[in-house]
This record gives sequence, C-alpha cells and structure tokens, in this order.
Amino acid sequence: MNAFEKFAMRLTRSRKRRKTISHVLVGTVIFFAVVLGSVISLLTAPVDARSNSFNKDETERLGAVQANIEYRNGIPMIDSAEATGIYPWPLNGVVTCKYGWRVLCGENDFHGGLDISTGENDPIIAIADGVVERIRIDKKSYGLYVLIKHDDGFYTLCAHLAKTYVKEGDRVKQGEKIALEGGEPGVDPYPGRSTGRHLHFEIRQTANSNSRIDPLLFLNK
Ligand SMILES: [Zn+2]
Repeated sequence: MNAFEKFAMRLTRSRKRRKTISHVLVGTVIFFAVVLGSVISLLTAPVDARSNSFNKDETERLGAVQANIEYRNGIPMIDSAEATGIYPWPLNGVVTCKYGWRVLCGENDFHGGLDISTGENDPIIAIADGVVERIRIDKKSYGLYVLIKHDDGFYTLCAHLAKTYVKEGDRVKQGEKIALEGGEPGVDPYPGRSTGRHLHFEIRQTANSNSRIDPLLFLNK
C-alpha cells in the first residue's frame, strides 16, 4: 500500500473508491510536478540562451539571407556569399577555401569555416569585442583553437593557431591581436588537420558547431 492509498483509507472504507482516490491523487501530484518543473527550468535557463541575439538590423539581414538557404540534415546548401558584412577580417590574407561543400578544395565534405592564408605566422585579430570562451588543442581537426563569445551575440572560432596571446575568460577588444597563424605540419605546433599554414575561421550563432554560418556574411569587403 502506498502513501496515497493510506491517505485514501481515511476517507472511505470502499476498496474500489480508495483505489480511485489514490489514482486521482497520484495524477494530481504528477501534473503539478510537471508544471513546477517547467516553470523552474524556464526561470533557471542560462541568461545567454535567452538574450543571445544579434542586433536588430543584423538579425533581419541574416534572416533574409537564411530564408533563401536550403538545408539538408541541418547543413546549409549554399554557394558561399561574397563579403557583405561589417566586421574586419581576422587575418589579411587570401581566401584559400570558402564555407560550404568543398568539392573544389579537394575534399568532398562540408567546410564549416573560411580558410584565410598569408603563408606566414601573421597576427590574427578579434573581429569584435567579446570574452574568450574556450582555448583547446584538438589534435584531430582544429589543432590549437580559440573560441570567443562576442558582445554582438555571436561566436568566432580561430583554428590551427601557432600561438595564442589570450587566455580563457579574457576580455578582448575589436582589433586586438589574439593569436598567430599556424598549421604548417612539422613546423608549427598543434597544426591539427592542416596541410599548410592558414587560419580556419568560423562564425557560430552559439558555442556549438552545428550553428556555424558563412563568415563572409559578417566580414567587410
Ligand atoms: Zn578550414
């Protein structure tokens, strides 16, 4: 006999009614637990998950762009746009591989960032104000990388770095030197999956890699 049945015993002697009362009580408790749980999870959701948005004009512009993109398995099927944004380039080099399906870059897979190269260990800058969210070494792909959470509501990731000048939690300013270009196997430390010196640059809507967008939508001409 569970607690609800014991309580029901006080109300009636009928076994059948006791069962019914007990079931109604259990149902009521579950209902309120679910409602309370939803309210609590809403109230305690991370602040950045609720307020993580681009400024209004940027949201509208990107919305218009994204509305015309066909998605397959959550991956945008687009030819990379030309630079149409307002942010400075993280590295002044040549684009060696755009964002999108990179049949042309020698591999038949999806490239979630923009490759920019000078062939040197040149400085890489933060394209906007923000806070360094993560610095890691990913030997299989990104090598040494930095993920920054920007005040404007998006994230940038710089990969295959030879060296970083920042640490996690640091505030960075737009234009501030954050790292050096790397990625030359056998020469630069932590190249990751890279065949030559370049910056792999991503823009993400969240910290998660499934939210990547074409960086050329953000960078100026
Ligand atoms: Zn790349």
